[in-house]
Amino acid sequence: MPKTPPPIKTPPPSIKTPAAPMSVPPPPSSGDASFERRVVKGIAGSPGVAVGTALVIGEMRATYTRRHIHTVEMDRELARVRAGVDGAKKSLREVAARFSNDQAPAILDAYVLMLDDPLLHDRITKKIRIEKKGAEWAVASACEEILRLFTPGKNERDSYISERRHDVEFVCDRLLRALTGESTVVPRLDRPMILIARDLSPADTASMVREPALAFVTEVGTRTSHTSIMARALEIPAVVGVADVLNSVRTGDTIIVDGLRGEITVHPEETDVANANARSARYLAFARGLLEAREEPSITACGSPVTLRANVELPAEAVLALDHGAQGIGLYRTEFLYIDRSTMPTEDEQYEIYRNVVEAVSPHPVTLRTFDIGGDKFASTFQLPEEMNPALGLRAVRLALSQPEVFMTQLRAMVRASAHGDVKIMVPMVASIHELRAVRRLLTRAIEEVRARGLPCASSILLGMMVEVPAAAVMADVFAREADFFSLGTNDLIQYALAIDRGSRTLAPLASPFDPSILRLVQIVARAAASHAIPVSLCGAMASDPLAAALLLGLGVRDLSMEAAAIPEIKAAIRRISIEECTAVADEAIACDSADAVEQLVAKHFATRFYDLLAGSVDEA
Ligand code: PEP
Ligand code: MG
Repeated sequence: MPKTPPPIKTPPPSIKTPAAPMSVPPPPSSGDASFERRVVKGIAGSPGVAVGTALVIGEMRATYTRRHIHTVEMDRELARVRAGVDGAKKSLREVAARFSNDQAPAILDAYVLMLDDPLLHDRITKKIRIEKKGAEWAVASACEEILRLFTPGKNERDSYISERRHDVEFVCDRLLRALTGESTVVPRLDRPMILIARDLSPADTASMVREPALAFVTEVGTRTSHTSIMARALEIPAVVGVADVLNSVRTGDTIIVDGLRGEITVHPEETDVANANARSARYLAFARGLLEAREEPSITACGSPVTLRANVELPAEAVLALDHGAQGIGLYRTEFLYIDRSTMPTEDEQYEIYRNVVEAVSPHPVTLRTFDIGGDKFASTFQLPEEMNPALGLRAVRLALSQPEVFMTQLRAMVRASAHGDVKIMVPMVASIHELRAVRRLLTRAIEEVRARGLPCASSILLGMMVEVPAAAVMADVFAREADFFSLGTNDLIQYALAIDRGSRTLAPLASPFDPSILRLVQIVARAAASHAIPVSLCGAMASDPLAAALLLGLGVRDLSMEAAAIPEIKAAIRRISIEECTAVADEAIACDSADAVEQLVAKHFATRFYDLLAGSVDEA
């Protein structure tokens, strides 16, 4: 009998009560340049505005002594490592226990699993038995070796690898601290403060639950890094990617963190603080208003329904999705299950996780995407070949079809989850009809195998595909004959159509969803879907931009999937516009000659109506 997973509970939605406005800071001491007001730009990681006192956390590395040991000490040192692993697991579980219900981020479980990784333990044992290193030194040098496997390449495409590297660094640091007895990285706060760090891992951020953290500022990170994702989940403002912040802010400094503009102000003046407090109050009122409206129907001003679903990576996010009014999960990125571990997830393990998510959002549907690994999505469980252009290499469905046993395990787990709700299966990065046909054959076999074991599953399971390779978009009419549904993945479609690496910070401004070439590809796909009467949705980041969403409605897409936090805002936007005007604007946009021209056109039509939803939404209109 399959084990019954614990249900995911839906906590009441929350918007933080505004903190009491911060009083005006003491005047800067005259003549000391380090007390001068400074505005430093970063990346907006999590919305909101906070004013408070900085707590600079420093480099966060545990210190240890390099000591050679005698042969007789080896067993004792190995036993110390085992005790350290237990201690580190305990401290991670304590962090997880601070969350209510089943809200602890799944990454904490992943960290606990990483502590048992045989790759790590083999290396540590070798360091102790062969190199005769003391436990701390053995752990530190084994970790350094593993970290070298996670070194990003020379270009910028490896942001995903960098994130994984931070996770490994964090786990190693926890283990070292457990051995050296140093206290945990992030201190308990005795009063409300703003945390400044080089980086904050998900567990560091999570340990701030119930701590009076006003905001986070980090030197590394992007909008999609863990600090930002966790800060958004905790509703704490964050600015990430602030160059040299550890040297430019000192503990005790008064700072303003503006998570809407992506900037911090060090030693603000009286007027800055007054403005920040006002912006914070307006933002909180705005966010509360949007969230309160989450039960309102998702329809345009002319009454056309638009389906809004959530993209999730971690199972716990399913609850967050419902909180924000999602009508199901439009994209479940299952690759998360394969990262940060050295063994493949088993069928039962995957089944339990999918089932949990499916039951949590039932009766709404869940679209499970088969693993999209390769390219910028790295998983140490797969032995990927060295490639000059991994984004154009063995990735997603190509990798899945090259490892049929691993793929079949995932398909069977998905098929079994279909017994518990409305499950659809989606294939990433399909470029040729042969790939879709091959997956369909494997899915049919997976269904037969599940049934042959006497296990329940849905009588039919829809098999759809991501349209994220330009070839698939252009051939959409052909694919539409065999795919049960389409989901446009504009993150990759933009990358492949415009030949711009999606991880490149330098070229990011050119990778515009407003480029007319992208709009034309979207239109081709939407039309092919309509003429073959199959559903089409869009799950790229484009869906969470109010102006782009208006264009998408005009291009015929009525089903959008995005990060949960964006749903209330997009719902508010679509409730203010009509399909007729969206179609007129989209027709004009398609004929524009550049992304700039499209953006100006859309802004001219909708920006005034969306003034409160667009960036800087809490500025006075
Ligand atoms: C996309 O490419 O638009 C998409 C949604 O998939 P991912 O971002 O996971 O590649
Ligand atoms: Mg993609």
